[in-house]
Amino acid sequence: MNIQESAISQEPTFRQSVDLMFNRAVALMDLPPGLEEKIRVCNATYTVRFGVRLRGQITTFTGYRSVHSDHMEPVKGGIRFAMAVNQDEVEALAALMTYKCALVETPFGGSKGGLRIDPREYDEHELELITRRFAYELIKRDMINPAQNVPAPDMGTSEREMAWMADQYARMNTTDINSRACVTGKPLNSGGISGRVEATGRGVQYALREFFRHPEDVAKSGLEGSLEGKRVVVQGLGNVGFHAAKFLSEEDGAIITGIVERDGGLWRDEGLDIDGVHDWISRHGGVAGYPEGTHVADGNLLMEEPCDILIPAAVEGVINLANAENIKARLIIEAANGPVTYGADEILRNKGVVIIPDMYANAGGVTVSYFEWVKNLSHIRFGRMQRRQEEARHQLVVDELERLVTVTNSGLTLSPGFKDKYLRGADELELVRSGLDDTMRIAYQSMREKWHSREEVQDLRVAAYLVAIERVAASYRAKGL
Ligand code: NAD
Repeated sequence: MNIQESAISQEPTFRQSVDLMFNRAVALMDLPPGLEEKIRVCNATYTVRFGVRLRGQITTFTGYRSVHSDHMEPVKGGIRFAMAVNQDEVEALAALMTYKCALVETPFGGSKGGLRIDPREYDEHELELITRRFAYELIKRDMINPAQNVPAPDMGTSEREMAWMADQYARMNTTDINSRACVTGKPLNSGGISGRVEATGRGVQYALREFFRHPEDVAKSGLEGSLEGKRVVVQGLGNVGFHAAKFLSEEDGAIITGIVERDGGLWRDEGLDIDGVHDWISRHGGVAGYPEGTHVADGNLLMEEPCDILIPAAVEGVINLANAENIKARLIIEAANGPVTYGADEILRNKGVVIIPDMYANAGGVTVSYFEWVKNLSHIRFGRMQRRQEEARHQLVVDELERLVTVTNSGLTLSPGFKDKYLRGADELELVRSGLDDTMRIAYQSMREKWHSREEVQDLRVAAYLVAIERVAASYRAKGL
């Protein structure tokens, strides 16, 4: 056991950590004790063990699906494939899904699933057999179902696994016209939606943009100005970390000085080329050997290097009692779920570090999953009916402007590029990004309102819990238990 592992072992478990954070918020509320308990506890966790014949012998796998709260149905939450998956983790993640969905106003309860497996040990065909078998076990108990429980990708799973699960559901429910809505995060050709793959990283970018729109909030972190030139360290260059780092560096002028991966870290003062590093990881399985920057064997040490923004985007518990004191970033945005333990959270708050909490920071995924689910239920791509009509109306305006320029002989001209930009009707990707941006802005504003309106609310995490718990409580009150 290394120093970090031994420090973590003295800390509450992930689920206890989430509960403790919940308790900090409910202490500031006036909920009836029974209702408080009802919201906190996880409703049910299903554990399944199943065998798959692989390489001439039967291998037994263990999987979980937790439903934390079904105050709204379907319940929603990703399915993770990793060796560290266990009941405590799945229940913590399911609870976070309940609060996240409430905070960003997606009409779902909270759920999460996981399979104890190292997906890198199996080839594609084997993974398909395993995923379909796990899906079969969940489908026959309505734990994958468009009206009741809708999974999505998480660590170790992607569009590919979602397509297998959706197909498995369709084979077992041949007359369900809404079968495609049984999981989200599917490829476009299997009922997916444009922009879902990038959604969580894109949401991290929109969250940071919104934070930097409020100078008062930025000042609380000790930073100033905009995202331009901010020095950023990212842990985990997977789906979420890669997209966040790519968009922040390419579109907002942030400089990604550090990347931490399983096999070490990379550092480059002038900034790392995100596409280059990502491509290298895909080809070589890690960051070691990447020609630019300095390779550091103990990558986690890079999280302690001076930077403005730290983006943990890998696993839970990586900022803990062992390293919290050494963190120098002024702003942490929790792209991963639960990266900061309860104890570390307190240390960082005392140091004046601002933490944008997971339930908000990585809600882009579930937001676009919601759009995908709605698309599947409505059986039509967003924008299909309006796009050309919108373009025709814009054409009318442009024609009229050009006519006025001619008849008044004013010599005025339209700005270069205006016509093309204005005439183009929004396609599905633009609509999805617009809906996501709107969601991230509104949710941030609901948190900051709590943060600034009461002195006892000292951080965004408690503010986020307050907003979420109030909404879940209102839902229980309205419909009864
Ligand atoms: P992923 O499997 O695509 O990527 C995870 C990355 O982290 C990989 O590159 C992996 O090598 C790296 N990694 C794993 N353990 C590490 C460690 N100890 N140190 C450094 N790097 C490590 O997973 P993802 O989908 O990007 O998910 C990352 C986090 O974001 C998880 O906490 C997940 O729950 C959360 N999240 C994901 C989504 C989504 O839409 N995928 C949505 C919300 C939240």
